Amino acid sequence: MSLDLRSDTLTKPTKAMLEAMFSAEVGDDVFGNDPTVNALETKVANMFGMEASLFCASGTMTNQIAVKVHTGSGTEVICDQLSHIYLYEGGGVAQNAHASLKLLQGNKGRLTAEMVKGGINNPDDIHQPLTRLVSLENTMNKGGGAIYDFAEIEKIKAVCVENNLALHLDGARLFNALVETKETSLQYGQVFDSISICLSKGLGCPVGSLILGSADFIKKCKRVRKSFGGGWRQAGYLAASGIYALDHHVDRLKEDHQKAKLILEMLGNCNFVEELYPADTNIVIFELNESYQVAEFIQALAQKDVHVVHFGGKLIRMVTHLDIPFESLETLRTVLKSIEK
Ligand SMILES: *Cc1c(COP(=O)(O)O)cnc(C)c1O
Repeated sequence: MSLDLRSDTLTKPTKAMLEAMFSAEVGDDVFGNDPTVNALETKVANMFGMEASLFCASGTMTNQIAVKVHTGSGTEVICDQLSHIYLYEGGGVAQNAHASLKLLQGNKGRLTAEMVKGGINNPDDIHQPLTRLVSLENTMNKGGGAIYDFAEIEKIKAVCVENNLALHLDGARLFNALVETKETSLQYGQVFDSISICLSKGLGCPVGSLILGSADFIKKCKRVRKSFGGGWRQAGYLAASGIYALDHHVDRLKEDHQKAKLILEMLGNCNFVEELYPADTNIVIFELNESYQVAEFIQALAQKDVHVVHFGGKLIRMVTHLDIPFESLETLRTVLKSIEK
């Protein structure tokens, strides 16, 4: 049995999701005429208590559009050095928004209000770019799916209000955080000026992300999306998968987290592990010790049809998802033991 733990983007639509897609009513979304896209955008906006949302092709696109609308030439975005917007979006912030990034060193990718405060440039000093935006990520991918403390987010918001900064959330895996904490999507909607969520990660859709914000903000985003080549037509087929996923695949994220905890426990007993990250949600990160080189380790697993990714240094990442059934984890246990040296 093949076990593909490289990413939670690898899931294929379930039969029920495909049926929802096949039966979707569609139209041309560039004309605003796709009823299923409109229904998804309204549904998501209501979930967060925000005025509007915009359905886009990817989480990179939603982040990039949001950053571009919030910022501009000569401005700066405060974020953690492990942020997706910095590491994994092709230098898009420089290309698209012509803004610079102030990279801070948080705890597993999470900033504090104190750090944010210290990262704000003096607006009266002409040497420095104008700080305009703070971008947080929850859960934090490169931090091992780490969850933000909501009370700290509220403190960061207060710093933003005091300094006239916008606050953006890269919530590609926000639902993974929400099912583990007592906070609701409505609370997130109250704190952030814009939120990006992904449907194609743990929620199991083939494609799709949304940006949320005020009606005026989303209107600007729509213009930028068009210029990015992201205006699409009968996108309702994809939007239907999103509506299905939001109705059926949110609560089950807890199962992915249980699977990650099981993997964590297995790795705790393996002699090639130097250090384990906590695995708060569906992402397991560990550091290899001297017994293996990274490429050799990945190859040893691949030969047993188990697939993982290199995550910098001697770090390896495994992600649980819809297409990793609990039963398959017994296979994983055997494989991990078999490659010990
Ligand atoms: C996956 C991901 C995104 C978006 O990635 P796309 O592949 O462009 O959809 C954004 N932020 C984080 C933290 C992610 O993990």
